[in-house]
Amino acid sequence: MSSNISSRISPLGAVKQRTANWPVYGLKRLVVFAAVACSSFAWADKPAELNLYSARHYQTDEALYNDFTKSTGIKINRIEASDNALIERLKSEGSKSPADVILLVDAARLWRAETDGLFQPIKSEYLEARIPANLRSQVLPEGVKWFGFSTRARVIVYNKARIQASDVDSYEKLADPRNKGQVCTRSGSHPYMLSLVGAMIDREGIPATEAWARGMVANMARAPRGGDSDQIKAVASGECGVALTNSYYFIRMLRSKKPEDQAIIAKLGFVWPNQQTSGTHINIAGGGVAKNAPHPESAKKFLEYLASDAAQAYFADGNNEWPVVASVKVENEGLAKLGNFKAENVSVAAMGRNQIEAQKILDRARFK
Ligand code: FE
Repeated sequence: MSSNISSRISPLGAVKQRTANWPVYGLKRLVVFAAVACSSFAWADKPAELNLYSARHYQTDEALYNDFTKSTGIKINRIEASDNALIERLKSEGSKSPADVILLVDAARLWRAETDGLFQPIKSEYLEARIPANLRSQVLPEGVKWFGFSTRARVIVYNKARIQASDVDSYEKLADPRNKGQVCTRSGSHPYMLSLVGAMIDREGIPATEAWARGMVANMARAPRGGDSDQIKAVASGECGVALTNSYYFIRMLRSKKPEDQAIIAKLGFVWPNQQTSGTHINIAGGGVAKNAPHPESAKKFLEYLASDAAQAYFADGNNEWPVVASVKVENEGLAKLGNFKAENVSVAAMGRNQIEAQKILDRARFK
């Protein structure tokens, strides 16, 4: 999804300084306590704010944040960076982190952030009513750690000159000997692959998933490398016959007016995998309230806003994804062109739990 985005530090820098440099000795401490006590009335007038750590960055998100500020009066300060950079930053900031809301992409990363203790549980009847049960973290007695706010699908693209759609219309068929030498793939340690395998473990069990992984390795056209867009390009160039990609990379290219992108699209066939069986694998972009959020109420309000009708459409459309709230429709020509599909019914929490087992299977199969 988004990556390598610049960090923007505006008033957030000031927040960080205030917490990081909290004085601990003597007179200085007294002076600070007195100042805080005297300014308690002033706090009421201070505009409410929210510190958002986000792995997303799209033009349309600007409108989303402005709309939230307009309707609530809560100002949003943003830090935008890649998922890994945000997780590392949150870990190093520890209890002094100014983060209120954390937005990440893929259940694998959300689960990792959860196990790193970066979220606090929240209870929200609104979120639980709006967001399907399979698109959130495990529900604990104290609440839910993270929710999905948009979905993406893991789809199959193939080279029309080399492959028949019926030979590659399921994840299982990619590992079939008939596709020997045809498969391009990204790394077996990438979250997108770990989530797909995590879902397969949930559905098929470990031995069947491991057999699949070995079949995939046997069918590779080349050693795994690059991102999803690179796989699409390799299929179009004929370096390989078939590849997996997240739907938004394909849709982005489908909607592109650039002649080079159109030339790639012209060579590709597209299938929704597993329509006759388990359904196409889906994943999420999602988020939750940070463990040490200085503004937990604002954070909860923001997440609830993201599940509202207006925000859902914006959030999903910004990256050519689908809203998690089923009644919300997005006006997106790329999504419309691909039409409807049957989605896999595996919970993202289960995919998260299966990450470690998924990596072990891929390592045993030498899926690099
Ligand atoms: Fe992505």
